[in-house]
Amino acid sequence: MKKANIIMLGAPGSGKGTRAVALCEVLNIVQVATGDLFRFNLKNKTELGLLAKTYMDKGELVPDGITADMVKQRLSEPDAKNGFVLDGFPRSIGQAEMLDKILEDIGESISAVFYLDVPDDEIIRRISGRMICKDCQTPYHKEFNPPKVDGVCDKCGGQLFIRDDDKPETVKKRLDVFKSSTKPLVDFYSKRGLIVKLPSELSASGAVADMRELSKKLGFI
Ligand code: AMP
Repeated sequence: MKKANIIMLGAPGSGKGTRAVALCEVLNIVQVATGDLFRFNLKNKTELGLLAKTYMDKGELVPDGITADMVKQRLSEPDAKNGFVLDGFPRSIGQAEMLDKILEDIGESISAVFYLDVPDDEIIRRISGRMICKDCQTPYHKEFNPPKVDGVCDKCGGQLFIRDDDKPETVKKRLDVFKSSTKPLVDFYSKRGLIVKLPSELSASGAVADMRELSKKLGFI
């Protein structure tokens, strides 16, 4: 079996998180979501969390060095040795180069980059209605992926909330940042033959079944 060190690439609201959670379940690997790590730090009022908030509230990227240090620390933990899904990192060519250095330092490499190409109007439709669990960060959507009980996480019973940065003005800014800083990564990783394009819609059988099928096809299981 091939080791799965996967990057999820796509605009905010493209469905990266849902696929990342499903992949982790299928392959028994860890999800490393930089947005979740920042929100976790903010919830615990750490220095890193409070600093990140000043950028997140404006829909801007947290500076590369701070983000890369946090990723390096997380990827160096023992549970990341079996494989990982990077969700929300890298978000620029600079960060991708930093990731190369981090992976070289810890003796790892990228197995594949899963890319979700979703049109802007669809992104906006998906982001309005998005909710996440305040305790375990599981994503839901009031229309496409509703929880069994309104406002309550199916997995852990935590309360669901709408992120501050999912407000329309901030979403527009985040989409602009995606286009100017993150989208060039498609070319960057295509040149290395790592891009795997995913359908923007899930099949009727759902995220876990889709990720299982893809994982088999790519030799991860
Ligand atoms: P996300 O949950 O991935 O949509 O991220 C929410 C916010 O966290 C982003 O709008 C950024 O402000 C910050 N963030 C997440 N990942 C990164 C990253 N790789 N580099 C810089 N900022 C990030």
